[in-house]
Amino acid sequence: MKKNVFVFKNHCCGCGICEAICPHNAIIMQNNIQGFKYPKVNNNKCVNCGLCVEHCHFNSSNSFDVTDNYPYVFALKHKSIDVRLNSRSGGAFTALTDVVLNKKGAIYGCELIDNRTAIHTRAVTQLERNNQRESKYIQSDISGVINSIKQDLLSGKYVLFSGTACQVAAIKSYLKNIDTNKLILVDIICHGVGSPRFWSDYLDYLSHKANSNVIGAVFRNKKDFGWNSHIETIYFNDKKYDLDLFKIMYTSHLIIRSDCSDCPYKRINRVGDITIGDCWGISDILPEFFDNKGVSLVIVNDKKGQNLFNEISCADSIAINNSSSLLQQSALNVNWKKPNKYSKFWRFYKKHGFEQSIKKYDEYAKSIMFSEEPLPLIKRGLNKCIKLLKKKTKK
Ligand SMILES: Cc1cc2nc3c(=O)[nH]c(=O)nc-3n(C[C@H](O)[C@H](O)[C@H](O)COP(=O)(O)OP(=O)(O)OC[C@H]3O[C@@H](n4cnc5c(N)ncnc54)[C@H](O)[C@@H]3O)c2cc1C
Repeated sequence: MKKNVFVFKNHCCGCGICEAICPHNAIIMQNNIQGFKYPKVNNNKCVNCGLCVEHCHFNSSNSFDVTDNYPYVFALKHKSIDVRLNSRSGGAFTALTDVVLNKKGAIYGCELIDNRTAIHTRAVTQLERNNQRESKYIQSDISGVINSIKQDLLSGKYVLFSGTACQVAAIKSYLKNIDTNKLILVDIICHGVGSPRFWSDYLDYLSHKANSNVIGAVFRNKKDFGWNSHIETIYFNDKKYDLDLFKIMYTSHLIIRSDCSDCPYKRINRVGDITIGDCWGISDILPEFFDNKGVSLVIVNDKKGQNLFNEISCADSIAINNSSSLLQQSALNVNWKKPNKYSKFWRFYKKHGFEQSIKKYDEYAKSIMFSEEPLPLIKRGLNKCIKLLKKKTKK
């Protein structure tokens, strides 16, 4: 019986911890057609030691217990309008990381390189950290920083790592045997990560149309359209396009990593010390706090998170006692269902590429945005039969 990540049959978040932990270099992460990374095991090198299986947080039955007296929920706005306009939500990331930078710590967050590729980088100055601001709705690669985080902790530095919950769990799992007293983990509320290949092809398509290179890209252009808008803006030398194609495809779930539909971290018990997201619903609960420039939802999950939160000096925050309406069920707690035509779409994409795929699937994507389709007739029929059979065998 194989004792390597092969046993998980591609149920994987692509964090690459198995590759990093393997002492025999038997695992490499490879891109699939969507640009998502999955492990490939070299059976000639693998000795079945089982280390990768042991460290695979995504497939383990880790339970994250709520720390007594937690969580606390806050609405937060950075005091600087400029910071908020350059952040996706209310600038919680900047407020939290400033505390750590003041202690000469290192920040690990996601940066968009050449407008195209999302990777995690290390920042030790505010300027470097500012490059990590804003949400990139495609999957970020953390492989380049895994070892660096360990080295920073071993040298006694404060470290703040911020990323999706699965990335936070991955870092936790990698550092199992290290002193993590000075490590602060911030998980962002995440609906799912978009396809890096789709984003890159999209930029190529627009670049061709504009007959110019892309010089800038924002996934959700808050400065021109407000916090609650969903417009992506792509900049060229002499023009810009304000569009919503990426948003349509993302919110239809057609371009989100398939494993995100079965995410073990969609839960109220969070994996990070602090969780940050958009404080949707604030306009109803606290209209005086809302100005459409962004408000962060901050969930403090334990003492370490609380200590860091208490040290923030550059933001206004309000404790929310009745927080249930702010805790977005779809992103925080409940998995979504993969679209019925998910596999069909990607088979078509593989054969015909970006342009033909968006032409063919644009209307379908629009029809299922932010919603769930009923199961196809054949599956519904099958499910009914299974239920009936179960009933009969019980009798
Ligand atoms: C793919 C994705 C889906 C999201 N879905 C939701 C949602 O459904 N509901 C909700 O409330 N919030 C969601 N968010 C979180 C939200 O958009 C903001 O990232 C969060 O509120 C932080 O905003 P900020 O103003 O504090 O900081 P910002 O300065 O905007 O900070 C951005 C932070 O996000 C991290 N980040 C950015 N892109 C990525 C990425 N691709 N992978 C990992 N980390 C990344 C950076 O490391 C940094 O910590 C999502 C974010 C991403 C990246």
